[in-house]
Amino acid sequence: MYKVVIGLEVHSELKTQTKCFCSCENKFGGEPNSHCCPVCVGMPGALPVLNQKAVEYAIKAGLSVGCRINEYSVFERKNYFYPDLAKAYQISQLEYPLCVGGGVEIDVDGKKKLIRLNRIHLEEDAGKLIHSKEGTMIDYNRGGVPLIEIVSEPDISSAEEAVAYLQKLKSTLLYLGVSDCKMQEGSLRCDVNLSLHKEGEPLGTRTEMKNLNSFRAVYRAIKYEAQRQEEELEAGRAIIQETRRWDDNAGKSYSMRTKEDAQDYRYFPDPDIIPINVEKSYIEEIRKTLPKLAEDRAKNYVENLGLTEKDASQLTESKYISDYFEEVIKQYNEPKFVCNWILGEVFKKLNTIDEEDPEIMISPQNMAKLLKLYHSETIGQSVARKLLDELWGTNEDPETVVKENGLAQNNDVGGLEEVIKEIMKNNPKAVDELKAGNQKTMAFFVGQAMKATGGKANPKLVNEIVNNLIK
Ligand code: ADP
Ligand code: MG
Ligand code: ZN
Repeated sequence: MYKVVIGLEVHSELKTQTKCFCSCENKFGGEPNSHCCPVCVGMPGALPVLNQKAVEYAIKAGLSVGCRINEYSVFERKNYFYPDLAKAYQISQLEYPLCVGGGVEIDVDGKKKLIRLNRIHLEEDAGKLIHSKEGTMIDYNRGGVPLIEIVSEPDISSAEEAVAYLQKLKSTLLYLGVSDCKMQEGSLRCDVNLSLHKEGEPLGTRTEMKNLNSFRAVYRAIKYEAQRQEEELEAGRAIIQETRRWDDNAGKSYSMRTKEDAQDYRYFPDPDIIPINVEKSYIEEIRKTLPKLAEDRAKNYVENLGLTEKDASQLTESKYISDYFEEVIKQYNEPKFVCNWILGEVFKKLNTIDEEDPEIMISPQNMAKLLKLYHSETIGQSVARKLLDELWGTNEDPETVVKENGLAQNNDVGGLEEVIKEIMKNNPKAVDELKAGNQKTMAFFVGQAMKATGGKANPKLVNEIVNNLIK
């Protein structure tokens, strides 16, 4: 039986205003080659100047996962030719990365495990090739955008663990505010290194898979590659150390090239950029600015807001959802109720949206109003759900919509009594059943009352009235 061994290299674009070594705007998209200058298109003689913000963000990321920050750190040239790399070298780090060590704790099916990190280094992104019928064109807008590369030790043992690790990293970077982490836009990318071995034996030869742009792709690629390697080994063939490209549509990976070693890149210290000296006091200053991460927030929700651990951890998985929740309870301080509604009704809606980071299309203010209407029984559950649909994507005021469309729940006891008496008159058999103690018949009356009132009868009230009438 083989054991799967995985190490991930995660690239995350930093959300600085300008690029890593020039003052061009760092922004996704835009007219091709409109965020470029002589430095980032590699004109001879143009000199890079390091963006301090990029260093700060990289240190922030490092501190949040327990890395040691190197006070002395060096940029090197990683030499290779590819049309999206104007200088024919990438400014990166090898011998002296900014951050080393640390780890990310994951939780898979209640089992906690530490995935150790090897390093986090700072480097620049390359441009993009655009393939079309007329040929291939180059867009250097992305060239020179600051990236951190987070390299794990080969501590990951399954596709599930790999996804949990990525989710945790993504969440951390989002809470820190250092990256957008949009896999579809490429601001979070990941290479999977995978090998098989038998317990107690040395690690096997690994392959590296690239082009993974969703968690689902990572998951499937790992399953596929583990299977492929097992078949190779079983057939008595050796695994070739190579780079493979994952084709998500085909659900297969293909060999691209045999893997190059660091020495093939002829790394050497970039003579245009002086080494970075990070002072201890600067590191401590950055440490002070670290925000609360998911776990701290979840702890607060349990201890101070009375949520269960499970709910708290679900709410804080995404910073966006957690921020939203906090905004809503600012206006309407019923944490448990708001939490249930978000994890239930709102998540149901988000699940039907096919996007990487779906957005809640109702402002927290309006959500608070909607929930107040529901909680105070002005509207019933089915109307509350309908209202959620109707308000989604509009900026309409829930109270106004309820008023204008006469959606308020019928809490008028006298009126409801009349309606129910009529139903009873027409359904004597059901009344007998209820009298005989068959509580299931109650659902029938509630249903009929709903029908008669266009879904507006307060079910609790209907219950009470029916029970009173049969006494
Ligand atoms: P390179 O620079 O050639 O990509 P690194 O030493 O930086 O090599 O390692 C890259 C990744 O490969 C790391 O995440 C590491 O954990 C992982 N890795 C190294 N050896 C193995 C192995 N035998 N099986 C699986 N992953 C491995
Ligand atoms: Mg690598
Ligand atoms: Zn530039």
